[in-house]
Amino acid sequence: MINSRKIEDLHPKMQELCRQFIADCLAAGVEVAITSTYRDNEYQNFLYAKGRSDKNSKKVTNAKGGDSIHNYRLAFDFVPLLAGKPQWNDLDLFKRCGACAMLLGLEWGGEWTSFKDYPHCQFTNGLTLSQLRSGKISSPTD
Ligand SMILES: [Zn+2]
Repeated sequence: MINSRKIEDLHPKMQELCRQFIADCLAAGVEVAITSTYRDNEYQNFLYAKGRSDKNSKKVTNAKGGDSIHNYRLAFDFVPLLAGKPQWNDLDLFKRCGACAMLLGLEWGGEWTSFKDYPHCQFTNGLTLSQLRSGKISSPTD
């Protein structure tokens, strides 16, 4: 199973956006850590089991392997830091970072209506999941 937090494991265009996002958040006064970048389908299925077949956890995702933008190297998750410590429950800090993400043209999970995913940012350049699944992954560099 692969669950990377390395920026280098993202799509080249997304690496650029991720580094700019970190810099923009810092300029807005918020330090962030990147907690997840590329995941393989196996790890995504492991996450999907949480709160379903794995009853010891709450649900953490609605995406199975192949259904997450992380599987296509076009998404990353972040957490705001205060004095180096992750602030998972500080909605205000997440919103400040989300604003930076949206200014960069990223889609921020905090804006989703059905399942709010505050740490999540993605950039598909308008490609749908089924297009990504069929291999249309190079387009975001065009
Ligand atoms: Zn995510």
